[in-house]
Amino acid sequence: MTVTLDNVSRVFGDGSDAVVAVDGIDLTIHDDEFITLVGPSGCGKTTTLRCVSGLDTPSGGTITFDNHDVTDLPPQQRDIALLFQDIALYPHMSVRDNMAYGLKIAGESKQERYKKVDDAAELLQITEQLDKSPASLSGGQQQRVALGRSLVRDPTVFLFDEPMSDLDAKLKRELRPIVEEVTDQIGCPVLYVTHDQEEAMTLSDRVAVMNDGNLEQVGPPKKVYDDPKSEFVASFIGQPTAQFFDATVSLDGGASVEVGEHSYDITRPDGLLDRYDGRSVRVGIRPQYIEVVDDSDAGIQASHKLDEPLGDATHSFFDTPFGEITVVTHPDFVGDKQEYGLELDNKNIMLFDADSGEQIG
Ligand code: ATP
Repeated sequence: MTVTLDNVSRVFGDGSDAVVAVDGIDLTIHDDEFITLVGPSGCGKTTTLRCVSGLDTPSGGTITFDNHDVTDLPPQQRDIALLFQDIALYPHMSVRDNMAYGLKIAGESKQERYKKVDDAAELLQITEQLDKSPASLSGGQQQRVALGRSLVRDPTVFLFDEPMSDLDAKLKRELRPIVEEVTDQIGCPVLYVTHDQEEAMTLSDRVAVMNDGNLEQVGPPKKVYDDPKSEFVASFIGQPTAQFFDATVSLDGGASVEVGEHSYDITRPDGLLDRYDGRSVRVGIRPQYIEVVDDSDAGIQASHKLDEPLGDATHSFFDTPFGEITVVTHPDFVGDKQEYGLELDNKNIMLFDADSGEQIG
């Protein structure tokens, strides 16, 4: 099964009050593929997912499951599994009956239902909970039951809308491999909406970064991280996100960028920067490639503000002429509100067009 969104848009309201939630997006989710929609609040992720589910109908464009146009079909005719943050298990039924309920409605025999539920429970590590009531389970266990309910139905498309947003970091880490196993086992296209970068990076075959109703970049997580298409993507993917500086390109005696008083040699393919010579660009760099030096004249002048020690690294915040800059420093770094210089590792400098925001390169 392949899910295809062709020029899908969704506009709420009309006239001057119209909100373009989804602005003509194209996306193909291949069989067995796990795609995560990420982007800031209000960018259109949930609306996109609701259109694929049938809970909402696009204002324009088509959605097909293989060659079957489902754009106007209600959810119950799409054979999808939908998992939300709100799990909504039936409180008066045991976990086993909750998981088997969809199969019962579909007319499967008790023996078949319970066999499927037992197999799913084993995969989800909730065999011991099968005879309990949902209310006696933790949030993470309830989410496993909800996953199991979908798993036994063997859907043709799996849709998730922030299913783990209520869970703490430890529970999320425990549940992630289970989500992977379940979706692998079903082997259908998966569309997963999340705010959580870690979730997006670890679960997805491809991430789709959404901005203001448009898909800004779609690609494997590592590719999107290493080679963001735009300043927006670079500033959204990665934790802490990339840091940005206004700069000027100089091709005088080799390519370099001038960031304030400091010049950094850069290597780019011949001719790529010709049209930027002497022009303003934006330099982006991941915070782990910025070095803090004691001599404030040696790099970008930086006044230390705050350290957040995380155990394996510290996130340190500085005021600079370019605004607040975050640096990933040594675990033992203590800035003590002193003056420092920030040196950029020139091999890891990204360049963005100052007008379009597109990466140059
Ligand atoms: P979040 O991460 O906060 O859930 P999102 O990326 O999922 O956000 P959507 O919920 O899809 O974003 O909303 C996209 C835009 O459409 C927002 O501006 C939102 O206010 C608007 N919107 C969504 N649903 C409706 C609706 N039923 N009526 C009017 N506007 C809506």
